Amino acid sequence: MERIAVFPGSFDPFTKGHARIVERTLKFFDKVIVAVGINESKVTDFMLEGRLKKIASMYSDNPRIEVKAYTTLTVDFVKQVGAQCIVRGIRSVKDFEYERDMADWNMRLAGIETLCLFAEPEYASISSSVLRELQSYGKDISDYLP
Ligand code: ADP
Repeated sequence: MERIAVFPGSFDPFTKGHARIVERTLKFFDKVIVAVGINESKVTDFMLEGRLKKIASMYSDNPRIEVKAYTTLTVDFVKQVGAQCIVRGIRSVKDFEYERDMADWNMRLAGIETLCLFAEPEYASISSSVLRELQSYGKDISDYLP
């Protein structure tokens, strides 16, 4: 059986921290699906297309990494693609509280396990929301993007 993990997130933008989680997950699974969750009503097809394309082009030469968008509940997507596990990253206690609740719901709703990887210290303060804010003030964020 192919071991498949889903790494779900908004990835707005996809950062070096996210990329490290993908790389580290490949040590344990045959395939990782980077799943871009769409639940913000303000996201246009155009924006989404750009986000997906950027991530997909980064991994286009690696058949073990797939990039897909989804609009359903995460556990339903996980089942639909035949994956066994959700992977998430934890940077701090703030992430921990949230991830623990989500993992509990994923197990309760669908019997799906969540594997959490701790962020490496050099990536632990990188967040998409901070990068979006810096960018909105005209700062160059390219050092933090893969
Ligand atoms: P969401 O909106 O689902 O939290 P994000 O795109 O912000 O989506 O994050 C997706 C996952 O990646 C989450 O589990 C988050 O904790 C994790 N993550 C985000 N940034 C980092 C980082 N710098 N290092 C490790 N994990 C991270």
